[in-house]
Amino acid sequence: MTTVTKIPADIKIAAEGGEARVALSQASSHDTAEGKGARVPHHAPAHDPSDGREDSANPQAAGTALRINEIFYSLQGESSRVGFPTVFVRLTGCPLRCGYCDTAYAFHEGATRPLEDILAEVASYGIKRVCVTGGEPLAQRGCFLLLRKLCDAGYSVSLETSGAIAVAEVDERVSCIVDIKTPGSGEVDKNLWENLDHLSRADEIKFVLTSKADYLWAVTMLHERKLASIAPVLFSPSFGEVSYEDLAAWILRDRLPVRMQVQLHKVIWGEKRGV
Ligand code: SF4
Repeated sequence: MTTVTKIPADIKIAAEGGEARVALSQASSHDTAEGKGARVPHHAPAHDPSDGREDSANPQAAGTALRINEIFYSLQGESSRVGFPTVFVRLTGCPLRCGYCDTAYAFHEGATRPLEDILAEVASYGIKRVCVTGGEPLAQRGCFLLLRKLCDAGYSVSLETSGAIAVAEVDERVSCIVDIKTPGSGEVDKNLWENLDHLSRADEIKFVLTSKADYLWAVTMLHERKLASIAPVLFSPSFGEVSYEDLAAWILRDRLPVRMQVQLHKVIWGEKRGV
């Protein structure tokens, strides 16, 4: 199958921090060669810098280096993979500013590292599950190549993404955990709804809920957009804003086809970094 991958016109890498600014009105993935619903097959050279479109003099722009906030080993705290020992690769930078963000330290902190160096550190843990997170990891275009390289190396790879940047070019072997930002996040206008066309049952859709009003909004989206028929749906309470008991009661009362999740790492270790 012939594959043409398109560089998202909405991603502009800033000179510092690898941050992106997202122009949502331009962001559409419907014109890929695979058509609606497809993600990049694993044989496709997603963002391979060797295609000549990149600035080879700048490794970060070329995707052969990434600005990394931290790499660490812990239990997966969220999604259907919760509880599994996992290596986390946290990329620097995010174009959003959610009110509940617990990784603001990743907005700017980090060091630019060659892709091979990152892969070597991941391998050093001897763990086959890897979660690429941020910040917003897709804000750095090199992330697409990192994801493909991790899949090629045999890892089970998940990606935590804000839902504000197109996932159409993410390798199809990656399980995407895609946020839908609620009004309470302060970033509801950043939702890139076209992303739903590129998800499968191997992916997950996540709401972080800051209030009862957020919950009711999420229930409306759940039904109007038939989200549970696209991918498993996660409802997560914003830490300290919605109680576990309240969210559990609302979901049970409304008999929703969603999975409630708590952030296991915070239950175990509290709000610490690197866990
Ligand atoms: S998208 Fe994630 S990293 Fe970015 S501001 Fe929101 S919660 Fe923080």
